[in-house]
Amino acid sequence: MKTYLLPFAGLKNGGHHLDYHVDGTFFEDFPESEIQNANIHVHLIMEKQENMLVLNFTIDGVLQVTCDRCLDEFPFPIDKEETLIVKFGQSYEEISDDVIVLPSSEHAFDLHQHIYEYIMLALPIQRIHPDNADGSSGCDPEMMERLESMKTDNAIDPRWEALAQLKKDNNTK
Ligand SMILES: [Zn+2]
Repeated sequence: MKTYLLPFAGLKNGGHHLDYHVDGTFFEDFPESEIQNANIHVHLIMEKQENMLVLNFTIDGVLQVTCDRCLDEFPFPIDKEETLIVKFGQSYEEISDDVIVLPSSEHAFDLHQHIYEYIMLALPIQRIHPDNADGSSGCDPEMMERLESMKTDNAIDPRWEALAQLKKDNNTK
């Protein structure tokens, strides 16, 4: 089982480097993400101070996402940096997007949820194949043709036409 724990209690004050790897199994806890494949490296530089931790994340790699237009999968590269301040206090509290309070009795901090949110924020709401170098659509041409023909089929579906005619006849009665 993969762990995204940050075991800060045993570490000395000062800078520490930690690495985490995110693959498809990471997203099993987050089925709403619809992501099944990923290869992402999370590099964390933690500055441990007496009363707080300053966490600097570098998150880079590739996510396999589903194209909103042709429904085919494609690799989406992400590369971003995030900072999180962890202060020690009485009880757990989220002060803002990048400041939280952790009970001072804690020994480790689970980064799972935070890493997930950073990755999802790096993704655009609409995910569409990037265009090819020649400017043409990068979408799966076969799939696009099928989707296109489904649209046209609906428009000239004889059953619809018959129904429309029936309605027309009824209205003129
Ligand atoms: Zn596409």
